[in-house]
Amino acid sequence: MEQRTPVGRARVAAQLALYVALAAHVGAWYLGGRREVGTVSAASVFYLLQVGLVNAGALLVGAALLTTPLLGNAFCGWACHFGALQDFAGWALRKVGLRPLGWHVPARIRALLFAKLFVLNTVAAWFALGKLPRLFVNCGAPEPLFALGTWLTVALDVGVLAILSVWLFGPRAFCRAACPVILVARLGNLAAPLRMKLRGNCIDCGACDRACPMGNPVSRMLKEGGSVAALDCVRCGRCLDACPTGAIGFGTARGGSFAAPAPRRGGAWAALAGGALGIVLHELLFRMRSDGSLAGAWVAHLPNWELFYAFLGLALGVAIHRLLRGGKPCTLSPSRSRSPRAV
Ligand code: SF4
Ligand code: SF4
Repeated sequence: MEQRTPVGRARVAAQLALYVALAAHVGAWYLGGRREVGTVSAASVFYLLQVGLVNAGALLVGAALLTTPLLGNAFCGWACHFGALQDFAGWALRKVGLRPLGWHVPARIRALLFAKLFVLNTVAAWFALGKLPRLFVNCGAPEPLFALGTWLTVALDVGVLAILSVWLFGPRAFCRAACPVILVARLGNLAAPLRMKLRGNCIDCGACDRACPMGNPVSRMLKEGGSVAALDCVRCGRCLDACPTGAIGFGTARGGSFAAPAPRRGGAWAALAGGALGIVLHELLFRMRSDGSLAGAWVAHLPNWELFYAFLGLALGVAIHRLLRGGKPCTLSPSRSRSPRAV
């Protein structure tokens, strides 16, 4: 179980401050009548790609990506609201005594979502436009809660994407399997000098491997290269929190053989097929909605978010696969652990 070091406390404080800022922003818009800044969600970067809208969310993602050559994916570890929500979900699950089941979630599902969001949706929007979009700036559009829909869809998004995904697939499952931002941020991670470094005596206990929410083989990287050269390290410092000897710290380093978490076997195709099915279901439902004759009002109460359906399908695919193979446990940590990782 990880201990909260000053780094851990600072990360939690940053995540709480983020939610206070978000609440203030929503309050200023809906209660205070301030309309200058609309949604600041990372997902709104797709409006930029699809129709050329430069909004506050796109600027935020742009700024986050610009910091990656220096800080790596620190934005994801410290300043992403959905990353924070998954961390809070993990904390809440632990408080009620639910340990994550740690089902295997194939990172390749990200490539599928990437293809859907960047290629299919974006290119389709360009075709509908008949030309490449021209950039225009409107930081007040769309409104802060535009993408969230009704309170029911908010509850489903939070319940399914944050709590259920963490319970089924382990910490930061959404980041590991679905978030396209972290995929793009890998480019910056390759160059970033700010890393987790070996600073003291390692007793090879593997606590850092089990604590890493991104599934990085932390102890192996530290042993082999002196620093964590991982494509998906979000600089959260949880390996540092977990180390019983205080052997890990933040520092600067270059080089190293960059590694993504080792692929794990079992259920990958079932998960991918489920995820693809979820995406198709989303398309069908929302085509039905746009053609009002084909669906009742109930469709309007469903979340209009591909990632939600992809994750539902993914969970279903893995559940069926596990049922068929007798529910054998999956290996959770890439290097050594067979027990559920800390959340
Ligand atoms: S290696 Fe350490 S800092 Fe990087 S994601 Fe894993 S726990 Fe967080
Ligand atoms: S937690 Fe610390 S002591 Fe244990 S393997 Fe990792 S670096 Fe070594």
